[in-house]
Amino acid sequence: MRASKYILPTEKENPADAVVASHRLMIRAGLVRKSGSGFYFFLPMGLRVLKKIENIVRQEMDATGALEFELPILTPSEFWEQSGRWSAMGPEMFRVKDRHDQWYALGPTHEESFSYLIKPLLKSYKDLPVNVYQIHTKFRDEIRPRFGVIRSREFIMKDAYSFHLDDASLDSTYQDMRTAYRRIFQRCGLKTIPVQADSGSMGGSASEEFMVVSPIGEETLLLCGKCGYNSNSEKTPFVLPKDFHTKGPKEKKEVPTPGKKSIQEVAELLSVRPEDTIKTVALKNGKESVLVFLRGDLELNENKLKTALKWTELEMIPEAELRKVGLVPGYIGPSDAKAPFRAILDSSIRKEEAYVVGAGKEDAHIIGYVPAKEMDPGAEVLDVALTREGDPCPDCGTPLKAEKGIEVGHIFKLGDKYTKAFQIQVLDQQGKARTLTMGCYGIGVNRTMATVIEQCNDEKGIHWPISIAPYEVALVTLGKGPEQEAKSKEFYDALCGEGFEVFWDDRDLGPGFKFKDSELIGFPIRVTVGKKFFETGEISLYDRKRDREEIFPFSGFDDLISRVERLRQELVQDLTEE
Ligand code: ATP
Ligand code: MG
Repeated sequence: MRASKYILPTEKENPADAVVASHRLMIRAGLVRKSGSGFYFFLPMGLRVLKKIENIVRQEMDATGALEFELPILTPSEFWEQSGRWSAMGPEMFRVKDRHDQWYALGPTHEESFSYLIKPLLKSYKDLPVNVYQIHTKFRDEIRPRFGVIRSREFIMKDAYSFHLDDASLDSTYQDMRTAYRRIFQRCGLKTIPVQADSGSMGGSASEEFMVVSPIGEETLLLCGKCGYNSNSEKTPFVLPKDFHTKGPKEKKEVPTPGKKSIQEVAELLSVRPEDTIKTVALKNGKESVLVFLRGDLELNENKLKTALKWTELEMIPEAELRKVGLVPGYIGPSDAKAPFRAILDSSIRKEEAYVVGAGKEDAHIIGYVPAKEMDPGAEVLDVALTREGDPCPDCGTPLKAEKGIEVGHIFKLGDKYTKAFQIQVLDQQGKARTLTMGCYGIGVNRTMATVIEQCNDEKGIHWPISIAPYEVALVTLGKGPEQEAKSKEFYDALCGEGFEVFWDDRDLGPGFKFKDSELIGFPIRVTVGKKFFETGEISLYDRKRDREEIFPFSGFDDLISRVERLRQELVQDLTEE
């Protein structure tokens, strides 16, 4: 490809609304342009990267035996009503109405569509297991689209769905997907960590997210350096160290705490640690209200609570509403654990220890409160606290380390939610109808592209892993005049003839400008046939990632090509090592 015939709007200035490197660089390198909030135009150079990632995903999915489909993006509301998600999905789902007043959703995910499609296609256990997928556009009306294509409202996803007679078969495909995902991300030059993730209210039995450690990540990962336990903090069980004891007063007594409502204020006034107190969080989901009691220094993990209660949503109960039912915000305590509230004791509380708790009335707390003596022994105990860095690993007890992560992929054992809703059954070996079990597996293609840039950039721009670079080689030629141009073309033809993907910068521009562009866009290899070549016969070969330039006298195309090939092999090798 010749740059003079290309549309390549590179920019010197950072776009004002771009706060992360990948967003800035994708715009500046002319890979994408913004269309609207959360919508992006892909330009030819950017599209090449996207298609290369898609191809890697496709090759690895096909290698596992998965079958590629393409489904309509527009999905009828009946599909969603059948699974109950037409109402459960909320405002993230784009909904549109056709001229016949029929409602549709722009597919945010395709469990329903694939279930509808696959049901009549599977008849017997002999048709199983089967794993079907597509690489296609998804829509989500994200409340806060941000970071460019990392969280956009229209994006490409590889979404796969597998169907099985039993859990053993589901597990086998789940493990195959896990291996395929590792290969996919490795081939894209991306270092990922699979972490245990929240199965949410979908009720699946296992789920892992593929995370890329990055300071801009929106997820918090808790990792164990010793035993390899990794999880999303949304899900990490909280483990109370064995030697934990409260240190506050042991004798039960009501004490005045006028105006002291926060844990910090109460702890200071009574000279105890936040760990020696119990705090109360009041929440509702529209149908039910709960009071959660947890240790004063800990935060509630809303995801764990939602999963444990099988709630799809939850909100804090406003103070005015609490007052209406006789509760005193800031002073709520275990004595308030009665109707209409469901009381939940977090497992971080050691029931035999003495704590400071709210007295259930204005301006007072109770010290020396021992839950084992006072509370209903049948009170519901759940693990709903947010685990933090330094808390013990649930598997081996070593203090956990926290990192921020970007989720690029997700694998999920769904169970029978959709197969039940769509009555997907086959006849088993005994001729009996059996409802299938299901898995689903997603990869964000554009997010993967942007995340690679987050990992592979420097002050000059992007340095693409060779596997997904828009072109492997940038050929920068600087000769003017017909003879020099003809010579430059010989270089282009020689490199293309050897099968290299070459982007030939033949524009009538100065060397500085051309070098800057090639470094900004991030072609892994650059061959320069510059002024020096026409004076002294010197050529330069540049390794973008290592910022390493080799200058040598041109001694024929065979020598040049073997040097370029050697560098290419080295860059391919990097992918297996990282
Ligand atoms: P997130 O928690 O980041 O919103 P999710 O859990 O909603 O993601 P999934 O439903 O598991 O995502 O979708 C599968 C994959 O699709 C994700 O791992 C991610 O790579 C990608 N993805 C999801 N939402 C977006 C988005 N708004 N923009 C770009 N990619 C996305
Ligand atoms: Mg997810």
